[in-house]
Amino acid sequence: MKKILCIFILSALLLGLAACGEAEPALPRDGKPVIVTTLFPAYDFARQIAGERAEVILLVPPGAEAHSFEPTARDMIRIQESSLFFCNGGESEAWVEELLEDQQIETLRMLDCVDALEEETVEGMQAVPEHAHEEHDHAHEEHEEEGPEYDEHVWTSPVNAEKICVALCERLCQMDPEGADYYRANLARYCAELEVLDAAFRQTVEQGQRRTLVFADRFPVRYFVEEYGLRYYAAFPGCADDTEPSARTVAFLIDKVRDEQIPAVFVIEFSNEKMADVICEDTGCGKLRFHSCHTVSAEDLENGVTYLELMWENVAALKEALN
Ligand SMILES: [Zn+2]
Repeated sequence: MKKILCIFILSALLLGLAACGEAEPALPRDGKPVIVTTLFPAYDFARQIAGERAEVILLVPPGAEAHSFEPTARDMIRIQESSLFFCNGGESEAWVEELLEDQQIETLRMLDCVDALEEETVEGMQAVPEHAHEEHDHAHEEHEEEGPEYDEHVWTSPVNAEKICVALCERLCQMDPEGADYYRANLARYCAELEVLDAAFRQTVEQGQRRTLVFADRFPVRYFVEEYGLRYYAAFPGCADDTEPSARTVAFLIDKVRDEQIPAVFVIEFSNEKMADVICEDTGCGKLRFHSCHTVSAEDLENGVTYLELMWENVAALKEALN
């Protein structure tokens, strides 16, 4: 896998090199280019790769519910004036596709950088109520029966994070050939760090006593468990509205914790943790946090928290949950 990735990156770099020779610089010559991002992972990846050559803006406010985000008029102007709009794509960002229907905006979607997985409902999971999708869907109702619904949380696998950063670097090189060496150096450094993280997750799973995670919460980390061969039970799919779990869902998870002697259940960031507390009280298991990195708090954002920092906390939590 690692070798394939290395070859992938190398060829991406070479391709980028070729493209950089020909492309017209698309960035403003005076002042820094502006990269407008929707979600925290895109924001952090853009900071890591573009570094000091660009100003990076995060649209979805810290701590906000990313799935129901509606851009303000000011956000729209920022997107239109940006050098690059680096978004996630997918159903929660249906407004993006609406915007791009009649505007030419340089855009990169994280979902397009990876092999997307379909949303999944596993045993015991409470299905998303129909209305949960309605507010994002109005523009796409006519397409609703076409094609699968993709899970949007692609960045939760560090391997995907690397693919996304490679694609971002390529795009930046095309747009700003003068900065190509700088972007590539940043990419190489950052990918090396992602690979150390990836190795830590792999080792944690290999050395773990079990392979099953229980999320007493939504489950926005499907790409992560697929990457590392983990099984999971969860109360709700990743993009479900915050819904009260049914007694049956809670009972199902309690049974799983008991049957498989799960040492700790997971909550995700900004969870009210009520369901987890009920399960912990009933079974005596522990409670751990898994950062999906979907959104961060205002305080963390201000303190410059990174995807890598949060994911390393996940390594530590995973160690506890698997042993
Ligand atoms: Zn989500």
